[in-house]
Amino acid sequence: AKAAGGNTHRPYDVSLLERIQREKALLAELRRAVEQRDFSIAYQPIVDTRTGRMVKAEALVRWLHSERGEIQPGEFIALAENHGLIGEISEWVFQQVMRDLPLLRQCLGEDFQVSINKSARQFRQNYAGSNTDWARHLSQSHQGGNVCIEITESLLMDASEEAQLILGTYREAGVEISLDDFGTGYSSLAYLKEFQIDLLKIDRAFVRNLQPDSSELALCEAMIVMGHKLGIRIIAEGVENAMQQRLLCEAGCDYLQGYHFSAPLPLHRLIEWARHQNA
Ligand code: C2E
Ligand code: CA
Ligand code: CA
Ligand code: CA
Repeated sequence: AKAAGGNTHRPYDVSLLERIQREKALLAELRRAVEQRDFSIAYQPIVDTRTGRMVKAEALVRWLHSERGEIQPGEFIALAENHGLIGEISEWVFQQVMRDLPLLRQCLGEDFQVSINKSARQFRQNYAGSNTDWARHLSQSHQGGNVCIEITESLLMDASEEAQLILGTYREAGVEISLDDFGTGYSSLAYLKEFQIDLLKIDRAFVRNLQPDSSELALCEAMIVMGHKLGIRIIAEGVENAMQQRLLCEAGCDYLQGYHFSAPLPLHRLIEWARHQNA
């Protein structure tokens, strides 16, 4: 399989059998990793365009493999989803974010927010009632305002009543809902209103080719205007250079995220980064 962003690119001509065997081996290793909790979180800064300050960070999971080092989620999230392991991984991510939150709030401000990814598949499985558990935990610990759940368009497309209910539980706990990878799916704009989305993340496919007078810029501007009319704030992901930053700022984008600011960082380096930025 072609690895997304990893260092394990293989030629495309490997036989199907070899691919199946490799996936089987990887799955066995992933099961062990889940048991042993061999994961870590990298936090990527999200910057407020008005102040230039980091006000949020996205929690991105990594698999700490004993031989291969850090494995990126592109290589194992789909596998985990297909074999019923995503719930446990996601549970670990949530618990780790809860352990990290006190330090984050202390160093970066009481209102600092962490975004957690939740795939549509795991949402539907509602692993061990995890959605209600998370919402209850956040509400009881008064930390709902410190968490944002990133969902994707496919969640809104099916099981809308169930999804509405779960999202309502989060909303009551003060958790914000962000629609990830916006513009890449098939969602109807009506969903944005119906599901009371708080934030919308413009997918990096649009940001990648941003140029003055480009159709990508027109699309970004349109998404920002439309979002704002619906009372939704906008994040652009995958911002890699100063020109993209300038164009998105001029278009009225609220938050920016991408390598131009910082790659995802371990907790302590994130805090250092913020100190350096705000100095
Ligand atoms: P995503 O939610 O779209 O996350 C953004 C991805 O873009 C991250 O990849 C991040 O490292 C990468 N990125 C950030 N800035 C830039 C940039 O300027 N340029 C480019 N080219 N890429 C950038 P990562 O960490 O490999 O994660 C990949 C995907 O895995 C995520 O995409 C998300 O869908 C999924 N994922 C990560 N953590 C979790 C998790 O805890 N649970 C679930 N369900 N999915 C997760
Ligand atoms: Ca995300
Ligand atoms: Ca995204
Ligand atoms: Ca994306």
